[in-house]
Amino acid sequence: MDLQILVQAFSKLERITSRTQIVLVLVDLFKKTPPETIDKVIYLIQGKLWPEWKGLPELGVGEKFLIKAIAKATRARESEVENLYKKLGDLGKVAENLKSRAESAGAGLVKFMGAVGKEKLSVEKVYETLVKVALAAGEGSRDVKINLIAGLLTDASPLEARYIVRLIEGRLRLGIGDAAIMDALAITYAGSQAYRPLVERAYNIRADLGNIAKILAKSGIKALEGIKPEVGVPIRPMLAERLSDPHEILAKVGGKALVEYKYDGERAQIHKKGNDVWIYSRRLENITHQYPDVVEMVLQSIKSNEVIIEGEIVAIDPETGEMKPFQELMHRKRKHDIHEIIKECPVAVYLFDILYKDGEDLTLKPIMERRKALIEVVQETDRFRIAQYMITDSPEELEKFFLEAIENGAEGVMIKAIHEKAIYQAGARGWLWIKYKRDYKSEMSDTVDLVVVGAFAGRGRRAGKYGALLMAAYDPDTDTFKTVCKVGSGFTDEDLEKLNQMLQPYITPHKHPRVDCLMKPDVWVVPALVAEIIGAELTLSPLHTCCKNMVRKGVGISIRFPRFIRWRDDKGPEDATTTKELLEMYKRQLRRIEEVR
Ligand code: ATP
Repeated sequence: MDLQILVQAFSKLERITSRTQIVLVLVDLFKKTPPETIDKVIYLIQGKLWPEWKGLPELGVGEKFLIKAIAKATRARESEVENLYKKLGDLGKVAENLKSRAESAGAGLVKFMGAVGKEKLSVEKVYETLVKVALAAGEGSRDVKINLIAGLLTDASPLEARYIVRLIEGRLRLGIGDAAIMDALAITYAGSQAYRPLVERAYNIRADLGNIAKILAKSGIKALEGIKPEVGVPIRPMLAERLSDPHEILAKVGGKALVEYKYDGERAQIHKKGNDVWIYSRRLENITHQYPDVVEMVLQSIKSNEVIIEGEIVAIDPETGEMKPFQELMHRKRKHDIHEIIKECPVAVYLFDILYKDGEDLTLKPIMERRKALIEVVQETDRFRIAQYMITDSPEELEKFFLEAIENGAEGVMIKAIHEKAIYQAGARGWLWIKYKRDYKSEMSDTVDLVVVGAFAGRGRRAGKYGALLMAAYDPDTDTFKTVCKVGSGFTDEDLEKLNQMLQPYITPHKHPRVDCLMKPDVWVVPALVAEIIGAELTLSPLHTCCKNMVRKGVGISIRFPRFIRWRDDKGPEDATTTKELLEMYKRQLRRIEEVR
């Protein structure tokens, strides 16, 4: 497939913001893509080479290397490349510029001699080379990378050079969400957007959009109908709604429920096939290397050959065996010394679901059937066991169990519907699961998780650093991020110190196309980082776009006195609190005020 087709599409996508137009450009591109290349095209649109959960190295070659490669390919001096970079602020544009110059200088010569030595680039060739660049490691890899990149740039047209450089830098940033890609896949391969739910279900069951696209392109939409989970490929997790009144909760799930401790740890989706074990986080990162002790527990306690189970990994006190808060697990993120950390920060695993067993897709089975299968599969030990649970239809019993859970170090309870339709809704937040957490009391004592979309320069003591962040909620209906508040308090000096460095890779010259915003921050930030925020209460504000016009014309929902609590590295931008949830929270707050009156 000619690389020109892909870069022309990139160039169009960069210029448009309308969702409908984005989908149309993608459809046009997919129609021109051969089935065996569609997966690669999807990954490249997402600015990567493979799904993150594969745990393979990502692109992201440093500026210095790229400057050398560009100089080599365009016969410019390195100092010239650097100066142009200072002027344009984008290495992609620098490469494009220098390629145009080199081409016009060489045009006369080419006319005279014919285009000697220049090869037309294909998507496949570029992908293959980028893989080599990403995987090159060890001694001599620096020169290997530079030569590979220079080779590509030598053969590239100016526009191709722009995007090759941005891809290699890990800064493609077209702002295309999974939702737009799924719409385009449904239209391309099934003829209508009406098939999007089928594509989405497949993606939820196997979180690899490239792979789903390839199945569609090769075998058509029918092939997605009976798609099953595949051990090793993560399933997108089912999520819970939130409520705070035991009567309301039980009514919502149909009267009777399975109630479990809500453990305060890290969600783990554990896949096992023979002696191979993979552990995926809530945002589907491969975290197996952080938990060699859990891998051992799985191999000891699970006798079935192929399973996918879910549970919460919780830090425990090595002396007392008591549960410790979520933050303790952060020690595990340090890659070195893992065996030392296993001793210092031991963990227990509390299992709460099973999604697949020896060829059988259990996600469509009702929860009590899944629970039975889970009990059969696991040989429990002290540190690897099924989550504490009970079945009840009594609000009083539920409240008692909730208090007991908190007493024992849990965050609250999860209430799960047990009727026949209570399947595992992969990738969805729904009312089949409801969380009831300790901190639902007065006003806004519950926290929200918001995405950074902009930053403001600090003043006074914070001069030269960022002093506040513009935060947004996620709106899944439009696949956009809508602003809620500007947060400047709650940061420790250490947090502020780290902000510049944390934001740097995400700073972008323009508002990201998926951000819906009225304010103008000092810098725009690509939606990627999620923080937990608390405030005094939810208020209405004309400055913010979250739920705009939904409560009252011309105003949106905002947070009064917002305060930063902590980063939520375990969440991706689409896992942030949704605008709908904020609307629900606002309505509940109004009801509470009414009650007090
Ligand atoms: P929160 O922000 O409250 O931690 P979340 O947004 O990460 O929640 P939710 O779906 O709202 O995700 O809450 C469910 C989370 O609670 C799960 O992702 C899981 O990590 C954790 N959890 C702890 N115990 C259980 C349990 N028994 N069943 C399901 N999830 C549990």
